[in-house]
Amino acid sequence: MFVVMKPNHSATDLKQVLKTLAASGFEARISATDDKIILNIEAADAKPLSGMFVQKISALSGVQDVVLAERKAVEKEIQVGNVIFGAGRFAVIAGPCAVESEAQTLRIAHAVKAAGAHVLRGGAFKPRTSPHSFQGLGPDGLKILDLARQETGLPIVTEVLDVRSVEVVSQFADLIQIGARNMQNYTLLKEVARQKKPVLLKRGMSATIDEWLMAADYILSGGNENVILCERGIRHFDKHTRFLLDLSAVPVVRSMSALPVIVDPSHASGRRDLIAPLARASLAAGASAVMIDVHDRPHEALCDGPQALLPAEFALLMESLRAMAPALNCVMDAENELRPFSALQGFASTPVGYQA
Ligand code: PEP
Ligand code: MN
Repeated sequence: MFVVMKPNHSATDLKQVLKTLAASGFEARISATDDKIILNIEAADAKPLSGMFVQKISALSGVQDVVLAERKAVEKEIQVGNVIFGAGRFAVIAGPCAVESEAQTLRIAHAVKAAGAHVLRGGAFKPRTSPHSFQGLGPDGLKILDLARQETGLPIVTEVLDVRSVEVVSQFADLIQIGARNMQNYTLLKEVARQKKPVLLKRGMSATIDEWLMAADYILSGGNENVILCERGIRHFDKHTRFLLDLSAVPVVRSMSALPVIVDPSHASGRRDLIAPLARASLAAGASAVMIDVHDRPHEALCDGPQALLPAEFALLMESLRAMAPALNCVMDAENELRPFSALQGFASTPVGYQA
């Protein structure tokens, strides 16, 4: 957490902030830029921050802003398998909403790999609104994803639904997904913080940006620094789309946090015809990646068929994203190799809207 002091704060203001932090066991490292004093706050025992505590600090005299999650001048790079997220790159995650069978998953995995996807998605544990809908293949689904990874070389992202499955999911996944419905499941957040794999944290469908970043802080302050945020649409009143894709969240989050932010236009819109335009808009808005549902037989899909692109449509979308990326100062490698950011000469290192 960072506390940004107002330009005109007094010495007494600063003293009071430091005293309040110290009284609750927080240490502050003070750094000064030309016009700002920023306090980098760490708990001596790495305990998570409570919302009440953040509010208390925000209300102190001389405090301009309390910034949740990590803020740095350069975006964080997060490695998923051999793919790097963040810091001027654009990656594409694609695959079926749910792992339905070995044959279905392998067909789609090969199709998205051929089109240039960087990571394979697929749910083995599915959070369904109705208990009567397909709930996923569970551990058998994880084994199918493992096979797809071996055949294609693509790293895997898959969702974990509950604390008791964290161990098995983290054994198989390269990136562990926390779904929108679990964004505020703090017990689960603390549990994924304890394991080593990077975490993809979806925004809750009714969560504010601050609540989303607070949820990320549970994982960061719990000991896992590798968090990727995913905007997936929020509740709204219109019937034409499933959720409202909040594209403004992308530059807002980038101005507040160093964590890469990605977009899922499939779950946001629920409509195949909207995925390509929304994916292109996500790249333009500064997202580090998009996550796209792809299915070769969407009419037979056991989950979310109407929001899956056909493989040929996905390949066309990939072509247009590859054409756009350089104009947006973004590297979209054929395969996102391990290139440290310092090697990407000439690409923007400063998040859009970053003002510290
Ligand atoms: C998913 O990505 O499979 C999913 C269930 O998404 P969300 O949690 O955003 O609804
Ligand atoms: Mn889905």
